[in-house]
Amino acid sequence: QLYMQLCHAKQIQSDSLVLDSRLGSGQFGEVYKGRLGDKMVAVKLMKEGSLHEERVKFLQEAAIMRQFNNLNIVKMHGIVFENEKAMIVMELLENGDLQNYLLKLKRKYSIVIGVFILLIPIHSNKASPYQLLNFCRQICLGMTYLSCKGFIHCDLAARNVLLSKENICKIADFGMSCDLENEAYYYSKGGKIPIKWTAPEAVIKRKYSSASDVWSYGCVLYEIWSLGRKPFETYSNIYALEKVKDGYRLPPPPGCPRSIYKHMIQCWHPIPRERPDFHRLMLSMLQLESEENDE
Ligand code: ADP
Repeated sequence: QLYMQLCHAKQIQSDSLVLDSRLGSGQFGEVYKGRLGDKMVAVKLMKEGSLHEERVKFLQEAAIMRQFNNLNIVKMHGIVFENEKAMIVMELLENGDLQNYLLKLKRKYSIVIGVFILLIPIHSNKASPYQLLNFCRQICLGMTYLSCKGFIHCDLAARNVLLSKENICKIADFGMSCDLENEAYYYSKGGKIPIKWTAPEAVIKRKYSSASDVWSYGCVLYEIWSLGRKPFETYSNIYALEKVKDGYRLPPPPGCPRSIYKHMIQCWHPIPRERPDFHRLMLSMLQLESEENDE
């Protein structure tokens, strides 16, 4: 009962849901492919034997997700309660997470280049700058919606963006997210931090805001334009943080347009209020896209 109150989400009867193969595993649950009536869905199951605190976290994620209704954010259909267990039913995103998708593009790209040298030119429209720019814009749109509603994600990264069959980007994994409730920032109480994606003020003082999400968005731009390379891949967490504190910034990925790198640098401004907000970023992404279309 307490758990139901916690999330006020639409309840789905367990007998209308059929589970299929496993898609992946996260911190608080496992994700399965499933069927709800004639609709294919993804179902996140609470881990067996999870502690009370983990259950609350699991349901808090559902409580946050159910408040969103946006094309670029994973949609939650409802929640199933069965005995002590709960399942979050959400839209199925067939193309998996963006990080793996980008890595596959990179592999295809290198094969094409290999063949190009040895044999004949093969044209590939994989990883066109237009597609990459389109990913950046869609994520920015989702984040603009999220920040306008007063939420912060706190774990924005390419691994937490999922892709539909039509390659629509959907922001996922709200396990660390929170509602700012009219405040400009919030201090997290603990837990693991994805240091290489997180703004220094959030790592050091645990001070999260939309501006710290903007920092992470800069890292997602880096992952997109380097086709799946993680920020500071070869550094330890501590070394990466030290370098960032000293003012070092990631270099532009090869082939990354100067205008996009300029955005990354703006997102990584050491002073949070000096970073652009998502709305401003979105306007400038739309501008870049229309310039790309004109060329
Ligand atoms: P995390 O590991 O970041 O906690 P999640 O628990 O949200 O991630 O999900 C684990 C994995 O399950 C993801 O990496 C993804 O591959 C898969 N997954 C999650 N949600 C969906 C979905 N709606 N559609 C398809 N696959 C999903």
